[in-house]
Amino acid sequence: MFAANEKSPNFCLHGRGPGFQAQILSLLAELKREFGMALVLITHDLGAVAGVADRVAVMQSGRIIELGTVKAILKAPRHPYTRMLLDAIPDISMSGRARTPVQGEVPNPLSPPSGCSFHPRCPHANARCKAERPALLTIQGVKVACHAIEEGRLQPEPRSATGQQMLAAEQL
Ligand code: SF4
Repeated sequence: MFAANEKSPNFCLHGRGPGFQAQILSLLAELKREFGMALVLITHDLGAVAGVADRVAVMQSGRIIELGTVKAILKAPRHPYTRMLLDAIPDISMSGRARTPVQGEVPNPLSPPSGCSFHPRCPHANARCKAERPALLTIQGVKVACHAIEEGRLQPEPRSATGQQMLAAEQL
């Protein structure tokens, strides 16, 4: 198994240009294929996983909040945080879609917010979200921890332009 963490000084892809990043990711994908190697890629860049990973686990405040295949998650992200991460990726196809940075402050890990720790930043938060931590449930084949999804207040987001573009680029 090979674990690559973008925050590690030995594997930092930041500031080295998109060409360098693409080369490294393509090399990792090749190693994975050739040697049947398990690869764990730790990154905040969902765009980086499209061509390399089979499955994605999206984490927020140290917990997995969405887990599924790359295709399922990029095509129709469920969790509001996953949607924000996708919306924050620059649109390289120049379609005119506005890039929306992830809103709000990252919570203090020593004193996380009550209930769902994402609730201060979530446009779908309600009273239950502030009081009760959502469990990771399997909903329509994807594991997701969100009261709004569980209650049916929020549907999978099939209109994720960014995810669709990434899937098309990687021909998944
Ligand atoms: S549980 Fe509530 S606050 Fe947390 S992501 Fe879902 S809707 Fe937002």
